[in-house]
Amino acid sequence: MIANAARAARAARVDDLGTETVFAVAAEAAALAAKGRTVYPFHLGDLNLPTPANIAEAASRALRDGKTTYCPNAGIAELREAIAVDVGRSHGLSCGVENVSVQPGGKPVIGKFLLAFMDPGDEVLYPNPGFPIYSSLIEFFGGRAVPYTYVEGRDGFALDLEQIERAVTPATTLLILNDLHNPTGVECSARELEGLAELARRHDLQVLCDEAYFDVRYTGSSRSLASLPGMAERCVILYTFSKKYAMTGWRLGAAIGPRRFIDICNTLNVNGESCTNQFVQWGGVEALTGDQSGAHEILEVLRRRRDAACDILSSTAGVRCLQPNTTFYLYPNVTEAMARSGLTDYEGFRRAILDYTGVSMCTRLHFGPALPGETQRYLRFAYSGLHTEQIREGLGLLKHFIESYV
Ligand code: PLP
Repeated sequence: MIANAARAARAARVDDLGTETVFAVAAEAAALAAKGRTVYPFHLGDLNLPTPANIAEAASRALRDGKTTYCPNAGIAELREAIAVDVGRSHGLSCGVENVSVQPGGKPVIGKFLLAFMDPGDEVLYPNPGFPIYSSLIEFFGGRAVPYTYVEGRDGFALDLEQIERAVTPATTLLILNDLHNPTGVECSARELEGLAELARRHDLQVLCDEAYFDVRYTGSSRSLASLPGMAERCVILYTFSKKYAMTGWRLGAAIGPRRFIDICNTLNVNGESCTNQFVQWGGVEALTGDQSGAHEILEVLRRRRDAACDILSSTAGVRCLQPNTTFYLYPNVTEAMARSGLTDYEGFRRAILDYTGVSMCTRLHFGPALPGETQRYLRFAYSGLHTEQIREGLGLLKHFIESYV
C-alpha cells in the first residue's frame, strides 16, 4: 500500500511541464530586497497602479450584496454581453454572448484552446521569443511545439512569413499568434496579418489570437487577425482585463470564438474551476460599461514611463532600443554591450547587472530557448511596475554600469 503510494507520487507526464522562469527572477529579486538592497523590478509584466476605483467599488458592492455563490459556468450574462459588445465594436465582428466564455484570467484560454483542438502528435506553431506557457502546455498535452520567430530590422521586429510557411508540415494543425507581442512590443503589419490569414486558410489551421495587450497602445488602434475575411470561424481570442485595467491579480478574462469552441470551453470550465469568481465578474461589467477615465489614466502613466525608460536605454553605449507603440515592454538589443563586458552568457550578464545595480530584468532566454543561428542578444524590461523616478534612477545605474566597460 505504502509502496504504491510512493510510486504514484509523481506522474511521468509532469516531466514535460515547463514554467514561467520569470517567477524565479522575481524570487531572486525579492531575496536581494530582503537583504536591504534597493531593487528595481523590471522583470514581471505586472502593474504597480491601482485598479480604477469605480471597478473596485462595483466588485465590493457585489460582494456586500451577496454575489458570492456559484454562477453560470460560462460567466454571468451581463459580463458576457458586455464583452461581446466590446469585441464586436473593436474587432468589427458580429459577436454574441454565445461566443464568449468568461475565464479566471486570460492565461487559462491557452490550455483550453489546446485541449479543444490539439491531438497528441499535432504540430503547433508558436512564437519564440514569446510567452513561455505556449510551448510548456503544447508539450505537456502531447503536441509538438514548433517555433517561429521575429527578425530585427532597422525599424523594429517583423515576422519572417517565409520561415513560418517552411515550418508547416502535414501534422501542423494550430497556430498561436500573440499580437501585440510580448516581449518585443511589436504589432503585426497589415501585410503580416494578411499573410498569416492566407496561410491559416490554405493549411486549414485553427488560430489562438493572444490579445492580452490589444488595448495597451499609445496611438492608433489595434487590428486583429480574427477580423480578416474568413478568420472569425477559425480564431479563438484570448481576452483579459489584467493589463488594460490594472487587474492582474483579480484573475478575469475570457475566451471569444466560434460556438463549437465555446461549448467545449464551457464544459472545460465545468470540469475545472466551475465558474469564475462571481463578484469579480461584476467588477468586469463596470470596467466595460462604466467610466473609462481610469483606463485612460493608466495608459498616460505608462506612456511617461516608456518615454523615460527609452530615453536612457537608447542613449546607452552598446544598446539599441526602439520605442514600441504598444505593450509595456522594451526589448533592447544588447549584443554590443554584452560583448564589451566580456560576459558571454545571458545569466552571467543578468546577474552582474542585478548585483551591481539592483536592476532586475529578464533576458531573451526567459521567452524560449535561443534558435539555431541566433546571434543577437536581448534583454526585456517591463516598465509597468516602477514609478518614473525609479525608472530613471535604476536605468541610470544600468547605463553607468554598461558604459563602464566601454
Ligand atoms: N498572454 C501574454 C502574452 C501575456 O504576457 C500574459 C501575461 O503576462 C497573458 C497572456 C496572461 O495574462 P492574464 O492571465 O493575467 O490575463
